[in-house]
Amino acid sequence: MPDLCQLSSLGKSREGREVHLLTITDFTTGHTDDKPAYLIYGNIHATELSGTHGALYTGRQLLVDYENSALLKEMVFYIIPRINPDGAEFAVTTSGPIRSRTDRSLLEPNTLYPEDINGDGLILSMRQEHPDGLFVSDPKDTRLLIRRKVDAKGPFYRVMPEGKLYQWDGSDNISIDGRGFDWNRNWSYDWRPEPEQYGAGDFPFSEKEMRYIGEFMHSKPNLFGVLGYHTGPAAVLRPPSTGSDNDLDEGDVGIMEDLARVGAKYTGFQIYPVVKYHGKKSKDINLRGHFHNFGYHHLGLFVFEFELGVIENSAGITTEEQFAAETDEDREELQRKLMNWWDNQTERDPIYKPWEKFQHPQLGKVEIGGFLRRHIAGPTLWDLAKISEGTYKFTLEHAGKHPKVTLEDLQVDFMGENIYRIRLRVANRGEFPTHISNKGRNLRRLRPVRLEFHPVDGVKLLSSQGHYTIGHLGGITGSRLLEWFVSVPEDKIEICEIRIFGGTGGNTRELLKIDNAKRI
Ligand SMILES: [Zn+2]
Repeated sequence: MPDLCQLSSLGKSREGREVHLLTITDFTTGHTDDKPAYLIYGNIHATELSGTHGALYTGRQLLVDYENSALLKEMVFYIIPRINPDGAEFAVTTSGPIRSRTDRSLLEPNTLYPEDINGDGLILSMRQEHPDGLFVSDPKDTRLLIRRKVDAKGPFYRVMPEGKLYQWDGSDNISIDGRGFDWNRNWSYDWRPEPEQYGAGDFPFSEKEMRYIGEFMHSKPNLFGVLGYHTGPAAVLRPPSTGSDNDLDEGDVGIMEDLARVGAKYTGFQIYPVVKYHGKKSKDINLRGHFHNFGYHHLGLFVFEFELGVIENSAGITTEEQFAAETDEDREELQRKLMNWWDNQTERDPIYKPWEKFQHPQLGKVEIGGFLRRHIAGPTLWDLAKISEGTYKFTLEHAGKHPKVTLEDLQVDFMGENIYRIRLRVANRGEFPTHISNKGRNLRRLRPVRLEFHPVDGVKLLSSQGHYTIGHLGGITGSRLLEWFVSVPEDKIEICEIRIFGGTGGNTRELLKIDNAKRI
């Protein structure tokens, strides 16, 4: 088996960890920049660790299935399993709350910063009796907290993450966690600052690790598909992330819907445009600086995200049921259902730790316990393996539609004297056109097909034109027939080299010789 996988780094994270990149292709069949490319990334959100595994599962399976598939010969897969290694490290080691990054360089007064204060290695939740407490213990399941009602009896609890307060003035006016960053709001398309968009960062791609992936994507004009892995309620997500389908090209919407259906078929998940991924009664969401609009409007590609599920999905509570829970009572009922399911598992992750009394150095008497975020943020490992098999199959189908620019019907004909006629056809036999989407047709990023005709020394081009900018080629049947006349000295066998560029990775070159020339 040839070399099929290389590990490299896009650079170091803010805290000095490598942001790993896997390049998976048959390296003996051409340079990676000459092949169509498909990018998969995961774990942009820190606690969504299953995203890393989903991405790695596909990487491993591509290698396992190498013998049965032509894909790795024709194209290249890039996999960034963990775009956010610092956030993931925090989530893995502490189970603490974090979106992508929390700014700890500028601590704010009266703010609670998550920290393991009882020395059990975990950052869980703290509850403290307080007259204004919003929660009471659930009489049906005392492990849980439910919303306090008007006529509720105490004790009443206020709830916050386990941690310590910075420069606390002793008042009840406590903020939680300082400034947070959501890197999936830090892409460049339609970026908006806070407070218009929570977690946006200082400017598009202001976060270092996001800059790596943004620059990587823009450095690869051969990129034709991108897939991001997340772990929200199980779903196949497609653009748009703001507005509605009316803002997209109609034909493109049809194709992205067809592709999303492939994802739904293999995973059993429902399809949601990002704007519709919300509770039943909520307004449509508008996520600014989000991946989907970036991928479609800036890259011109059909891009998707898989939400691999949360622990509720593993407990048999579907995404639709989760979204249908509108009231506190609805949500509390789902929590009881979750605990009931968990109690009946023989093999299970530790998703919950009982409340334990603790003397907080600032707040006094508290209790620490509750859910382990790192385990409830994703499906169970057993489910993850099954789901990842489905998302892998989706990627095979999506990637299998790559543009495939080829040289066909090569013909060298002897015309008499020293004159030869060369004919060939440049064709795209892949399913996607070389501009991928209609949106991509006019973007500079997706390069049109260009052919260069380079005669060897002594060979003279008699036609008026050698090079051709062919433009984009449609899928499967897009082709162009070209013809040149040359005069070739007696002693020459080689005529010219044909080089093809652009076309989303259809780079190829071929040396033409007169050996097989026919006399006509
Ligand atoms: Zn996410």
